[in-house]
Amino acid sequence: MINIKPLKAFTDNYIWLLETNEEVSVVDPGDAKPVLDYLSKTNKNLRDIFITHHHFDHTAGVPELENIISGSIYGPKNSYELINEKVTQGDTLSSLGIKFEIIEVPGHTLDHIAFYNEENNILFCGDTLFAGGCGRVFEGTFDQMFESLNKLKQLPDSTQIYCGHEYTKSNLLFSVEVEPKNNDLIMRNTEIDNLLTEHGSSLPSSIGLEKKTNPFLRCDVLSDNMHLIKKIGLDNPSEKEIFKYIREWKDSK
Ligand SMILES: [Zn+2]
Repeated sequence: MINIKPLKAFTDNYIWLLETNEEVSVVDPGDAKPVLDYLSKTNKNLRDIFITHHHFDHTAGVPELENIISGSIYGPKNSYELINEKVTQGDTLSSLGIKFEIIEVPGHTLDHIAFYNEENNILFCGDTLFAGGCGRVFEGTFDQMFESLNKLKQLPDSTQIYCGHEYTKSNLLFSVEVEPKNNDLIMRNTEIDNLLTEHGSSLPSSIGLEKKTNPFLRCDVLSDNMHLIKKIGLDNPSEKEIFKYIREWKDSK
């Protein structure tokens, strides 16, 4: 039996745990302490570490954890130096009996990857796709980020999204500005406070929910949103132009 649990780090980071009865693997340990505390509390051993991208808040716990892992540190090539199993698009790996496929998703950073398990509908996607939003474009281009999000959008609706930050509330507030008439989004926005209070987390989300409520996955639909198209000020903007516009709009907040 496999479980997935969040550990919180810093103000809004998630370190995801993949857990069996005896062992855990962790995704993006930006801080070692919550992981070490969890291991000592549960008397479990650490198997593998997954890294989605090189940013400090996703990797800084690795030096303290690398000596106690019994497995590997999986992550992208040309990335964080302590990664010892470099993986790329289409590669597969197995951790705690669960097989993951690698999806390259550059944009937020150039090295960014996601870990996907089809059988159990698991997606660890770091800072690429967030619940209600997407990561900032720091190293790649807007086109790259658009293509990366489109790759994730092709996954089954039932895919559970385990992303790197709890940004959902502020993302939804912005998304409602982009799509004030999207009823699914309005509903989601009214439920977010309760969800955070009752569960302490808005995650996981799902690809199906994001396709209905996340404007960054809805650039095809947004071309019918005349209010937005007028704001953009282009005749017939492409999906990529719409994406760039709303990403820059969010950045300016
Ligand atoms: Zn990042």
